Order: sequence, then C-alpha cells, then structure tokens
Amino acid sequence: MRFEQVVRSTPGQYISEKGALAALKDTLVEFKHPYIITGDKSYAAFLKHLPEPLDLPVLRYDRTASYEDMERLANLAQDADVIIAVGGGKVCDTGKGVADKLNCAVVTVPTVIGTCAATTPVAAVYYPDHSFREVAYFKRTPYASIVDLNLLVESPEKYFVGGICDTLAKWYEAESIIRHLEGNLEANVEMGLAAAEVTKKILLRDTKSALAFHAKQEVNDVFKRVVDTVYNVAAAVGCFACEYGRMAGAHAIHNALSPFKETHEIEHGVKVSYGLLVQLAAMKEVEETKHLIDFYKEAGFIYSWEQLGIEEAKESAFAKIADYAASDKESFKLAVPGVKAKQIVEALYLVEELGK
Ligand SMILES: [Zn+2]
Repeated sequence: MRFEQVVRSTPGQYISEKGALAALKDTLVEFKHPYIITGDKSYAAFLKHLPEPLDLPVLRYDRTASYEDMERLANLAQDADVIIAVGGGKVCDTGKGVADKLNCAVVTVPTVIGTCAATTPVAAVYYPDHSFREVAYFKRTPYASIVDLNLLVESPEKYFVGGICDTLAKWYEAESIIRHLEGNLEANVEMGLAAAEVTKKILLRDTKSALAFHAKQEVNDVFKRVVDTVYNVAAAVGCFACEYGRMAGAHAIHNALSPFKETHEIEHGVKVSYGLLVQLAAMKEVEETKHLIDFYKEAGFIYSWEQLGIEEAKESAFAKIADYAASDKESFKLAVPGVKAKQIVEALYLVEELGK
C-alpha cells in the first residue's frame, strides 16, 4: 500500500478536556497487555496528572525517533496489544512506529503542544545520530488520543509557540500547491483544505489570547480551541488532502536554515513560520505577508533575519538559503513553479523591508 496517497482518519477517539487522563483506564479496558513508552519529563508530567496509578510496564525511548529504537522497543514489548505513547512528537512517533511493527493499537498522550504527531498516522523518522531520515506512513491511525488540558497548560511555552507556528503554515502551503492545479478538486482534498482554512481562522484570531491564558495556566475554551487546532484539526489536513496538504515553500526555507547552527535552538515551527513569510513574499502576496508580519509581531514570533541570530553576513547567507530552497530536492517549487534562487533572495529582502 502507498499510504501517503490513502485518505486516512484522525484518531478513533479524540478526548480533549480538563483531567482527560481520568479516561485512560476506561480507554484501555479492551486491552490485555498495554505498554507505556515515554521520556523522563513527559512521564513525570503524566504521573502528576494521572488520577490513579496504572500498574503497567514502562519503557523509555532513546530520544532519536529512529527505526533502530522502534525495533529495540518492539522486542521489549512483544506481547503488547496496545502501546501508550506518553510525550512530545518524538515519543508519539516512536510509539506509533513500535505499534506498527507489532501490528497493535496505539494510544497517544501528548505532553507538549508542539506538533500534531499525537493525532496522525505519520512520523518524522531520524537516524540514530539524530539526522533526518524520512517521513513514515503507518497502517493505523491512533486508537485514541488523550488530551489532558490540565497537563498541557503546564507544558513549556516554546513548544506551544512552535506548534502554533507550524500549524499556521498548513493553509498557506496547501493553498500554494492547490492554486496551480487545473480542474475541480477531489472531495477529500477539498475537505483537507477546508480543515486547513479552519486552522488559519482560529490561529489568527485566538493565538494571542491562548498564549496569554497558557502563561497564566488558565484552561478555558480559547486555550482548548487552539490546542485542538494544533492537534486534531491540523491532523485532518494531511489525513484528507494527502499529498496536497504537504509542505511547500515555508518548510523548504526551514530546511535551508538547518546548516546554520545558530538556528538549532529555535523550534521547528518557528523557523517554518519565518519561511512562510519568505514563501508569501516570493509568491508576490505582499498584503498577506504584511498582515502576517503584524500578527507575528503581536504574538512574539520571528519575522526578521536578525531575530534568527545567524552570524554569517546576510548577503552570502541569503544566497546559500535561496540556492538550497530553489534546488530540485526541495519543495519551494510547489509554491512557485520553476522558482529561481534569485527570486528567493528577493523575497528574503522583501520580508526584511516589510518587517521594518
Ligand atoms: Zn512542520
């Protein structure tokens, strides 16, 4: 099966509420051999919010989200009929990979609001040395995702910001791909695109207040709306639109920034949202670029070269970024067919100009 082209669903059960972990025991009632896969901080947050202890085997991932670690964990959990992945994106991706190897169910309990890994059947897989390997597509979507808002409101802000930024790119990247297609869209692609539009609407409207409530550790409907957007609505984009809900120019710029070590401390999504400005500028969407820069300024996101903290001179760095992003192996061309490095350099300068 070519799962990257198969329309999928988001989790079988999406349970998002204050104290949602109280539902975990009932969720597991049909299973006989659950195993938990987790990390250190994530497991501590989980135990803090779990209403009653579960007597289950607990395995630690090795922080790589590699096939090698999935294999190791699958060997340790051979009799598992469900894997409970408790943690951030890499733990969820590892847990899904282990469940796929064991052909069993997976329940995700996200502990940061950084990605939609908890709610999708795909994973970003790395090599044991932490370099990126590929996107993996698994047979099953999660059996359930338990989204405990009391736990998540205590999670680090930098991941929440990263999750919002990465999700914001979904609509703009999908739309940039789809605008070049001829004829009517397939119904499922339209549905994925509609989900992307929902993410944009909610994030542009609610981000600032959701971040403020998160800072005060206040769980309310605004906070929940943005959390659910980053997890479940974002997941629906790729699940339904498949290859049209993919990465385009924004992620190409993110990837082009990777060789600059100063950016390694910056969250994935934050670099993607800077890349989104460059994509829109290259598409000559000047008004939309300005609109987003104003939004980024209010939300505290990165909108200028200086904020990336890269030491190399702007001229040579821009040339390197543009060469990489415009290359055949990158996805910028999906947003701007036939794009040349020169256009991307101009877009990088335009973003600087508009951000002043
Ligand atoms: Zn991303």
